[in-house]
Formats: sequence, C-alpha cells, structure tokens
Amino acid sequence: MPLIKDIKSNSEAVLILQAVLDNTVDGFILIDTAGLIQSFNKACETIFGYSANEVVGRNVSILMPDAYRTNHDDYLQHYLDTGEARIIGIGREVEGLRRNGEVFPLDLSVARVDVGGRTLFSGIVRDITLRKRAEERVAASRVELERFAFAASHDLKEPLRTIGVFSEVLLADYGDKLDADGREYLTYLTDAATRLKGLISDILQYSQLDAIDMNITVFDAREQVDLVLDYLADPIRQANADIRVWAMPTIKVNQIRFSRVMQNLIGNALKYRRPDRRPEIEITAKRKDKYWVIAVSDNGVGIDKVYHEQIFEMFRRLPSGGTETGSGIGLAVCKRIVETWGGEIWIDSEVGKGSKFSFSLPVSPKGAP
Ligand code: ADP
Repeated sequence: MPLIKDIKSNSEAVLILQAVLDNTVDGFILIDTAGLIQSFNKACETIFGYSANEVVGRNVSILMPDAYRTNHDDYLQHYLDTGEARIIGIGREVEGLRRNGEVFPLDLSVARVDVGGRTLFSGIVRDITLRKRAEERVAASRVELERFAFAASHDLKEPLRTIGVFSEVLLADYGDKLDADGREYLTYLTDAATRLKGLISDILQYSQLDAIDMNITVFDAREQVDLVLDYLADPIRQANADIRVWAMPTIKVNQIRFSRVMQNLIGNALKYRRPDRRPEIEITAKRKDKYWVIAVSDNGVGIDKVYHEQIFEMFRRLPSGGTETGSGIGLAVCKRIVETWGGEIWIDSEVGKGSKFSFSLPVSPKGAP
C-alpha cells in the first residue's frame, strides 16, 4: 500500500505530507526524547509567534508557562522509564506561552512515534482562546440569569400574594354584592395569580439547574419510576391510565433530577391524553452502545412534526385547544437535565396516535466516581 493513494515515490509523498502539515489549521510539533523541537509547522508559527528557525533544536519548554516548564523534562524521563502517561496518547487541555509572553489555553494531543529505532513525540496543538472566552461568557450569563431569576421571583411573589389574598377576600366579603359576571371575573384573577406563582417557581427551578451535577449516585431506575408513579397516583387514577413499566437498569445520575425528568414525561403522557381513549403508557429502557435509552410512550393526542424541536424550548406550548394547564417549561427542564448528563432527548410522534419521548444517559456518566 503506498503512503498516499496513486503516489508511487516516497519522495513525492514526503512533499505532499510537508504541504499538508504546512497548511493544516492546527499546530504540529515534533520533539525528541530530550524534549528538543524537531519540527514546527506554519500554524504553530502563527499560534506561538516564533518562526520555525527560531525554535527548532530548542527545548519545547520555551512554549510553556513556568508551571509546566519546570516539570516537563522530568515528565518525559518518567514516562520513558515507567511508561506512565498523563498526556501521551491521551491529550488534554493545557496552557501555552506565546513569544510575547501571553499565556493562553490550548488543546494538546500527543502521540508517541517510533521510527527506525528513534522515539519521537508528535503534538497537535489547537489554540482554544476564543472558545474559552465564549465558555466564560456563557458561564457568566448563566450566573447572571440565576441571580436575576432569584431576585425577580422573590420580588414578584410578594405583590402576587397580595393580589391572590385580596381577590379571595373580595370574593368572600363582597361576593354577594357582585353579580355573576363580577364573581366570575374575580375567579379569573385568582386563577391567573395561582398560574403566575407556578410559572415563577418553574423559572426559578430551571435557572437553578447547574450545568455540572455533582450529586451522582448509583440507583435502581425502577425504584425511582415506582416512586414517581406513587406521586402521580391521583392523576393516574383520574385518567384511568394503564401504565406498564418494562425492565429498568441500574443507573448512575442525580436521583432527584432523574425523577424530575420521569415525572415531567409521565405527567405529560397523562395530561395530553385523548378523551376518547383509555390512556396506555409504556416505560421502557434499552441499551444502545454506551448509553441507556429510556422512553415514555403514550397513545395520546400526539404532536405535529413541525413542533418536534420547539416543544423543548422554554415556554413553548402547542395550540392544542385543550383544557390542560402548564407553563411550557417541563420539557425544557428535561432537556437541560439530560444534557448535563451528556445525553439527548427526542420525540417520535404522530398526531392522533401518540407520542414517544426518549432520552439517553451514559452508562458511565461524566463526573461519576
Ligand atoms: P407544559 O406541559 O407545561 O405545557 P412542557 O414543556 O412539558 O410544558 O410541554 C410543552 C408542550 O409540548 C405542551 O404544551 C404540549 O403541547 C406538548 N406535549 C408535551 N408532552 C406531550 C405528550 N405526551 N403528548 C402530546 N403533547 C405533548
């Protein structure tokens, strides 16, 4: 097999590979076992601000800030003596040092290369300054959102309570002085105040879902599903629903968040039922590669394909024309939770036939002990 398809001579292949290296967007560095730079491509020149001529033959530690520099030679030697790798063959996020003294974040993947009795290490370097800045901005805006939601919900609750309480007082003390219409309008007012209270606490709940979940434990999904079904016993009885739970795995996520996802999905399956049919709800789990896929399917009203993406956004509700109440936050909460696990949530549904909501969660989730 030639090095490159349809190329017969190795010297031509070398020229091509050189051109490839010079034109790749990522930096490429080759060092020897003493840490001396053997090759430094054009992208590296842009990233670090040195020309290849200036750095080839020098120790790679000139591209590292002090914290990494002092340990680098020892690390290489330790690796060569013991084979213990912290980065070689693995890759991770580290810091680099530009010629102008600027320290910046980079993704580095290092591979060991053994050729003709010589050991070299190749490093692929990607400057992730912009990505890091964007991540920091997102994190800062999340903290701000959380602060805002907390302050707003606190400040909104008080006047809302006053509206609720005084509408009730008005109805109790002056109800007989109002005609039927007047009393009806007052009920609208109390209902709206109750709905708004629910909305505020939903928003608060959503904004408090940290992206990193530390409370991960191992538990039996079946037991949690049974607890959720107990909690939903009233609506299940009212709907006369037939609920089947198939074999469930032992999983490793935050138990409370898992229950919240299941509660939202089963609650919706009950809420969006067809009035002319006994609700049939099935809860299943299947292993798919490194994920468990848990699904809640129903024979309810179903959702038109055009809404399949939108329903996972905040405050999205469909013009169902039904009497169900809700805030349009439940599925957004589910999506956010599932994403903190590194999973996904999706829907298969047909109007009039029913819906199947599935979500995946890693068998060995990130952050798990
Ligand atoms: P809420 O139920 O509070 O409105 P959700 O975020 O849980 O908010 O759901 C968003 C919308 O998606 C609902 O308003 C409803 O129109 C639709 N929906 C959710 N689950 C189902 C389901 N099982 N069957 C039919 N429609 C559903």
